[in-house]
Amino acid sequence: MKIVLSSIAICLLALSPVAAQDFLAPLQELVDDLVPKPTTPEKAPQPTPPSEKPQLSNDDPPPLPRPRPDDLGETEAAEPAEERPAPDFESEAGAAEPTAPNAADEDKSVPTDRVYQSACPALLSGLVVGEMLDPIEDGMCGERSPLLVNAVRINGREIALSSPVTTSCEMAGAFADWVGEVDRYATAALDAPLASVTTGTSFFCRNRNGAETGFLSEHGFANALDITGFVLGDGREIDVKANWMPASGIEGRLLRQAHGAACGRFTTVLGPEANAEHEDHLHLDLGCHGQTCTAQICE
Ligand SMILES: [Zn+2]
Repeated sequence: MKIVLSSIAICLLALSPVAAQDFLAPLQELVDDLVPKPTTPEKAPQPTPPSEKPQLSNDDPPPLPRPRPDDLGETEAAEPAEERPAPDFESEAGAAEPTAPNAADEDKSVPTDRVYQSACPALLSGLVVGEMLDPIEDGMCGERSPLLVNAVRINGREIALSSPVTTSCEMAGAFADWVGEVDRYATAALDAPLASVTTGTSFFCRNRNGAETGFLSEHGFANALDITGFVLGDGREIDVKANWMPASGIEGRLLRQAHGAACGRFTTVLGPEANAEHEDHLHLDLGCHGQTCTAQICE
């Protein structure tokens, strides 16, 4: 169609330009009506936004991927954004104040049954044989996580205590290590391992040396043990009061070795040489001496 009209127009132009214009004008209108293509093609040029598409495609990948890796990689940067919601929770809690009393009443019934204590590694590992006791609260005395110790496991054996002791976890662990050292000495020097340890006072709320006034004893904090002697595997009994002297005796040497070994593990070791109150036992504790709890008393 266009070709036919074009050829006619060319002929007319050749003959008379004015006539040709008069003839072509209406024809052009017909062509425009018949061929609406020119309009759609103009919209079609949307493909021209190809210049825009690249922009979109460039925008999509960079902005989206970039922020995500940053958020995932830099948790610290993400945290602040997560912390911001916190105020919302607080405000919500504040808004829920009217119902808070009920919730508080319900919560009170739960914590009252909870006993807050610390686990004891010496008990968990089997270094000491015993069990956790409830917190002790006795006036100024007490211990939050006391143990009832029946025996210690050292050098591949279980060594019983003549009577159970109530002690702190720290004391229990140090005591077990000390008994292990005494046991090795007894095995080497007396040719007999320890069968049991003869125990005296453990937890006891009183002043030092039982005085009416003065500082509380470490016994009042389950932080001290009194040992009166040992029993060997062959039945021999070694008693502090009976065998401390003579010092050169085989039993006396074991007691002094036990006293010296205790000085390396406890902060306070008092024996027959200290005073008359300790003529029949070795007092061991982990009381704090000095400004940094590193000083020791060994008498
Ligand atoms: Zn004592």
